Amino acid sequence: MIREGHARKQGDHVVKATVVIVGAGFGGLRAARSLKRAPVNVVLLDRHNYHLFQPLLYQVATAGLEPESIARPVRAITRRQRNLEFRMTEVTGLDLAAQRVATADGALPYDHLILAVGGETNYFGLEGIQRHGFGLKNVGEALAIRNHVLGCFEHAMLEPDPEQRRALLTFVVVGGGPTGVEMAGALSELIRLVLVKDYPRLNIKDVRVLLLEASDRLLAAMPPRLSEAAAETLWRKHVEVRFGAAVQDYEGARVRLKSGELIPARTLIWAAGAKAVSLTERLGLPTARQGRVAVEPTLQVPGHPEIYVIGDAAYLEHDGQPLPMMAPVALQMAETAAANVARVVRGEAPVPFRYRDPGSLATIGRNAAVAYIRGIGFKGFAAWVAWLVVHIIQLIGFRNKMFVLLNWAWDYFFYERASRLITGK
Ligand SMILES: Cc1cc2nc3c(=O)[nH]c(=O)nc-3n(C[C@H](O)[C@H](O)[C@H](O)COP(=O)(O)OP(=O)(O)OC[C@H]3O[C@@H](n4cnc5c(N)ncnc54)[C@H](O)[C@@H]3O)c2cc1C
Repeated sequence: MIREGHARKQGDHVVKATVVIVGAGFGGLRAARSLKRAPVNVVLLDRHNYHLFQPLLYQVATAGLEPESIARPVRAITRRQRNLEFRMTEVTGLDLAAQRVATADGALPYDHLILAVGGETNYFGLEGIQRHGFGLKNVGEALAIRNHVLGCFEHAMLEPDPEQRRALLTFVVVGGGPTGVEMAGALSELIRLVLVKDYPRLNIKDVRVLLLEASDRLLAAMPPRLSEAAAETLWRKHVEVRFGAAVQDYEGARVRLKSGELIPARTLIWAAGAKAVSLTERLGLPTARQGRVAVEPTLQVPGHPEIYVIGDAAYLEHDGQPLPMMAPVALQMAETAAANVARVVRGEAPVPFRYRDPGSLATIGRNAAVAYIRGIGFKGFAAWVAWLVVHIIQLIGFRNKMFVLLNWAWDYFFYERASRLITGK
């Protein structure tokens, strides 16, 4: 066992309750910071030593940014918080009766537990796609995509067979949600604005970027006219957008659609599904759709009021629909969970979570984005500027903000992408 942490009385002095937070992503970090002034000890656990800003992962995958620009060490973020201790360790389970978190480095007791373990790619049991395709959920996967895409161009330059060359230069992105749209747009711009200069012998007609969507529209959370605008912009940026295109299998060389059509392609990027991390299935807690833990409106687990689940790992409905797996949900839930822990410590009743939808934004490359904020939809340059401002504000750390801004300005004016090294095998 790592350390004793339960609230207890020593003489007249009350030792604080221990709040263990699992996950230093959007939700966990916000919860930890919100407990800064609460009379509790906070122990924050994460399997990585950094906090990652996932919304910009696609820019790492498309050679626009280095991972260091969108991540920050948790210790650097939290070092001024005196009631907080960070430990890098993998959580493997829970002992609900003893109130202990099992980790790779021993058990850790808690009085209150906030689970903010996030999500992972959902391949819906399609094994071939999981084995041969690429997910986009973490730094390792983003770098794998960057290395692979750049590697395909190098191989294509040496490939004498035209069919093989075209397969090397065909890039299939699956899923028309924000990640798929942003990824397809950025990939097409990387190729058409930057790589064409690196590979002057390249015949650009051999290059294809496809965005496959099973339904009949992109960005389903936005009004139809913005979905259409996004599709039109992608077409203008040379992305072939296909609707009703459900992918069935992929063995590394050809993408098989449910219709039976085969698309020769050496790259498939899967942005078509997300679910809670598989850990949630092993905790002995009730799970709902996508493996998310079903919580009460107060974000507590039914039958376990000492456990709160927030963010992508939590299942809660709002207006009859499950809350989306998005950063604002995780951040707002974190504030409610932290406030509820503080209320319970003070002997008050917890309050229900109320979601305030801040709207959604998706960029489609240079000067192009769609935005839907407080019932108002807009697109084009204004939406793109809104997207830039929102992302810079949300990035953690002044240095990261400056680096990202500088990179974006450089790329914008010089049609460049700085991170074009192939660093893996
Ligand atoms: C490519 C991509 C683009 C996105 N774009 C947007 C966007 O534009 N706008 C938006 O609002 N949302 C976006 N999202 C979704 C958003 O990032 C998530 O909704 C948000 O990160 C959820 O926050 P969270 O705290 O629940 O989980 P996360 O931020 O994922 O944090 C989970 C943390 O838990 C840790 N963890 C997991 N399992 C364990 C374990 N067993 N032991 C220890 N630690 C563990 C992880 O290392 C991680 O640090 C995007 C997501 C991705 C992947």
